[in-house]
Amino acid sequence: MSIFSKIAEGEIPSYKCAENEEFYAFLDINPLVKGHTLVIPRREVDYIFDLEDDELARYQVFAKKVAKAIKAAFPCIKVAQVVLGLEVPHAHIHLIPMQSEKDVNFSNEKLSLPAEEMQAIADKIYAEFCK
Ligand code: 5GP
Repeated sequence: MSIFSKIAEGEIPSYKCAENEEFYAFLDINPLVKGHTLVIPRREVDYIFDLEDDELARYQVFAKKVAKAIKAAFPCIKVAQVVLGLEVPHAHIHLIPMQSEKDVNFSNEKLSLPAEEMQAIADKIYAEFCK
């Protein structure tokens, strides 16, 4: 089982931002900015473009709802969507609230936020997602 499957199953703790039967969203453990969220399919697929067309469409619609929740919780110019997948072999979309293009430079130093702050960020996004 991939580390992200274990997260979606609750075997490894995460800061949950949104979920439904097929998809799960949680804070990146080393965010580029506050609100940096990962969205995954519960089904274990490494490469996003190996998802079936209809599943990919539902995944994107779910990510859109999460992005809107992030923007409501953390006002920003836009929420950037990035797919890399070089580190973890389980498809994931990065959603990053952006004040400028510098915020989506993956070479930037990552943040390491206290657990209480991570929880507060996730709770804020989750509350917006559930509205
Ligand atoms: P990528 O595979 O897109 O290159 O990067 C994987 C991303 O997942 C990184 O931004 C990294 O910080 C994040 N990540 C890796 N392991 C964990 C983890 O166990 N928990 C969480 N929440 N994020 C992780």
